[in-house]
Amino acid sequence: MAADTTELQRPLSAVESGPRDALAAVLVQILGPAGVSVDLDRRRLHSQDVWSVADETVEIVVAPTGLEDLSRVAAAVSGAGFSIAPRGGGMSYTSAYIPTGAKTVSLDLSHMNRVLKVNTDDMTVTVEAGCTWAALDAALAPLGVRTPFWGPMSGLTSTIGGGLSQLNAMFGAGHYGTSSESVVALTVVLSDGRILRTGARGADGDTPFYRNYGPDLAGLFCGDAGVFGIKAEITLRLIRRPQHEGYVSFAFASGEALLTAMAEFTRAGLSSEMCAFDPGLTKVRMKRASLATDVKTLGAVIAKEKNLVSGLFSAAKIAMGGREYIEAEEYSVHLIAEGRSKTGVAEDLDAARAIAAAQGGREIENTIAKVIRANPFPPLNSMLGPEGERWAPVHGVVSLSQGPALFAAIQALFSEMTPEFERHGVYTGYLFTAMSTNALIIEPVFYWPEARHALIDATVEPQHLARLPTLAPNAAATAVVAEARRRVIEICSAFGCGHFQIGRAYPYRESRDEAAWSLVEAVKAALDPTGTLNPGGLGLSTTPTGPA
Ligand SMILES: Cc1cc2nc3c(=O)[nH]c(=O)nc-3n(C[C@H](O)[C@H](O)[C@H](O)COP(=O)(O)OP(=O)(O)OC[C@H]3O[C@@H](n4cnc5c(N)ncnc54)[C@H](O)[C@@H]3O)c2cc1C
Repeated sequence: MAADTTELQRPLSAVESGPRDALAAVLVQILGPAGVSVDLDRRRLHSQDVWSVADETVEIVVAPTGLEDLSRVAAAVSGAGFSIAPRGGGMSYTSAYIPTGAKTVSLDLSHMNRVLKVNTDDMTVTVEAGCTWAALDAALAPLGVRTPFWGPMSGLTSTIGGGLSQLNAMFGAGHYGTSSESVVALTVVLSDGRILRTGARGADGDTPFYRNYGPDLAGLFCGDAGVFGIKAEITLRLIRRPQHEGYVSFAFASGEALLTAMAEFTRAGLSSEMCAFDPGLTKVRMKRASLATDVKTLGAVIAKEKNLVSGLFSAAKIAMGGREYIEAEEYSVHLIAEGRSKTGVAEDLDAARAIAAAQGGREIENTIAKVIRANPFPPLNSMLGPEGERWAPVHGVVSLSQGPALFAAIQALFSEMTPEFERHGVYTGYLFTAMSTNALIIEPVFYWPEARHALIDATVEPQHLARLPTLAPNAAATAVVAEARRRVIEICSAFGCGHFQIGRAYPYRESRDEAAWSLVEAVKAALDPTGTLNPGGLGLSTTPTGPA
């Protein structure tokens, strides 16, 4: 894979040769040298995601810092016959933005990271697509507002543009659905550099305030895996931050009881978000939690309470509760309720208690729910197992009624694969969550002994990495995990599941009827006729046609 490092790390000069160098020189003219890199390490970093390392290496990494520059960059790259791989925080694991062909430019959007305008009169916020969820929430908190969906747990690093391109679960999703449901308007750069704006945008044409004007053009770019256009600027709806929060956690004897209760919590719309763990994931969490993170977390819990005394009281309860209150074989669920009044929140928690009791649930310390809310965007150290193992999830979005059956089918697969898992040191856990009032998400998670790649080293905190062993390459174990992920996806297909993060991993194309698929292809042909953006994403053609 490697080329000559000395050659690739040389500074770009105005006079270069070869298509890559000619393009790099044009990009330097647009962005200056700081925005263009041919450094081999950087190019390699951008040729891998959390799950995979591409066979190919991107030829250039280009980092525009604003809409106009982005437009000029896209026109230059597509005009030169290169593919474009837009990349936000790089925190996905479905080979969505890694190169599939030799001539690929990685478009690093993380430098387009400004919060452009907070408008509390119109209740909108406009950000550049590379803004992280954590940065947006930090900017909005002092103003007493937030977006309805307000981030995935990876939000310290993952971006709003990435979250809309592949949709997200977690904060606010229980009441408000996925990331795209908060969108008011998008400003999108097409692969040839054209700029497309969606939504009703006010008298000056640049003050977006309402999404639904005619066909939902913004919707086309939500969940598109970055194949239709490059999100440059995003306007989201604001809500006033709820004044009251409450937390409750339950343990259940079986996955079926847990998922039956979760479905009913969901129908009743009781929580702003919830998450649940099987016994396997609980064991991992307990092993991983170090004293250092606990102390940090307690600090965050104290800071979040309205006064020091109640903060200290909560922290003391958490410290005393420890992590031993969930029995080894139990399934636990953690709900966060929020609302306008203390009584309303208390009523939601009581309703949850009644639903849990009907499924044999036992109320436990609400530590985990509290900690999740106090520190919503922690460092992404959980992308490694407690012994430095690799980590990769796979998931299905399933109807409320089908959750238990899907879970049973995946469990049956894992029982069948147990001998192979044991031979290769693979172990599993499950994360469960819910979406709005109408879906559950079942997310099996794999841990296995395998060497880390550069993206992991660049993301996990150095002090956390220092505590972990360095594991040897283990292609055989990775192949077992790849096979298990493939078979889980097959099972999800049989249940007619939906998926986030489609990228190049989930069978979107195969699940569409002919009319729907021809529409997708026609939209692609209209928006990106050269097939420049993420070739192969969503199951579209892997071969760019290049400039006419
Ligand atoms: C530890 C950890 C925890 C996680 N927790 C959650 C969670 O709670 N909920 C959840 O939903 N996911 C979670 N994820 C998954 C992942 O972080 C999310 O899917 C996130 O949305 C990825 O955003 P990103 O900016 O990193 O996107 P990237 O990985 O950079 O890109 C994802 C896709 O979007 C495209 N893209 C990115 N930016 C743009 C743009 N501006 N225009 C067009 N296309 C673009 C890329 O080409 C690619 O196809 C987690 C991941 C990790 C590692």
